[in-house]
Amino acid sequence: IGLALSLAACSGGRGATSGSGSDAAGSNKGALVGVAMPTKVSERWIKDGNAVKKDLEAKGYKVDLEYADNKIPTQTQQVSNMITKGAKVLIIASIDGGSLSDQLDAAAKAGIKVISYDRLLTGDKNVDYYVSFDNYKVGVDQANSLLTGLGVLDKDGKKTGSKKGLNIELFAGSPDDNNATFFFNGAMATLKPYIADGTLKVLSGQTGFTQAATLQWDPATAKARMQNLVAKSYSNGATLNGVLSPYDGMSIGIISALQGAGYGTGSKPLPTITGQDAEAASVKSIVAGEQYSTIYKDTRKLATESVSMADDLLNGKKPEVNDTKSYDNKVKVVPTYLFQPTVVTKDNYKSVLIDSGYYTEADLK
Ligand code: BGC
Repeated sequence: IGLALSLAACSGGRGATSGSGSDAAGSNKGALVGVAMPTKVSERWIKDGNAVKKDLEAKGYKVDLEYADNKIPTQTQQVSNMITKGAKVLIIASIDGGSLSDQLDAAAKAGIKVISYDRLLTGDKNVDYYVSFDNYKVGVDQANSLLTGLGVLDKDGKKTGSKKGLNIELFAGSPDDNNATFFFNGAMATLKPYIADGTLKVLSGQTGFTQAATLQWDPATAKARMQNLVAKSYSNGATLNGVLSPYDGMSIGIISALQGAGYGTGSKPLPTITGQDAEAASVKSIVAGEQYSTIYKDTRKLATESVSMADDLLNGKKPEVNDTKSYDNKVKVVPTYLFQPTVVTKDNYKSVLIDSGYYTEADLK
């Protein structure tokens, strides 16, 4: 019995430290985790940052949460500081996905693991994991909701066959954000057959990503472009019926431009306008009948998953992934955990956003 006990103690001792990577799992208890977020201008990133911090603290980690005010040099500096302060894992939602190579290389040298949060870090091999929503599917969903709002598809996604020659305009997100092309490509793959058969027309002719792109997802830039498009292509009496917008903040700018041009009054209703992130202001706009749809991506899920990845890495475990082929960052395919997005309209916002506890009724008043 004595021998059996001492053997068990021995293997137990080994088991506690084996597979724990560089050092003993226990030594990472209470470690510092750096969390870099892009901006507080958009509500979603505030929710993300808060949720990640809360989940990390609940697991006993120390957290350095920083926002970079959409300024690339601020973010590179913040990440450098996290490395200097001795962070053991970095969770990064970048502004420009390709701008952090020096920091990623320094992190790797110091044995720090990097989790790319929602936006893919590109052009560097030192990106360990990625957690996001299915970004191509987001674009597909945006386009399908545009088609539903226009009456081209019915609520079950079937072609109604009753619409022809509807005018739409297209917006894309920031060219330095890897997600933006995924959204646009997903949307365009869905819309192209309808443009080809004349169901939809883009009077401005601006159907390319570069033409539609909006640097830093800036609402004011989107508003100015919408004003220009209306002046250029719709001043002869043509009516705009739909707008593909990739992000709620931009949708607000676009709606404001259109209202300024006389849309949203009885004789000239606002076009069907999409969005993304289910931000409170835009959900209110949907309830008020202005914006048509948004894409809900539960930031709590991203937070929980990124924290569980960090926790695994700090305890010598391999994080779980469910996609190992979609996200090539130009140097490597980054192992990814992807969630699925949900389309939200006036019809389902209560069940999707309030019943899930994402918002209270009061948040949307
Ligand atoms: C995110 C979107 C967001 C956009 C603007 C993208 O990277 O995936 O959810 O709307 O950035 O902040």
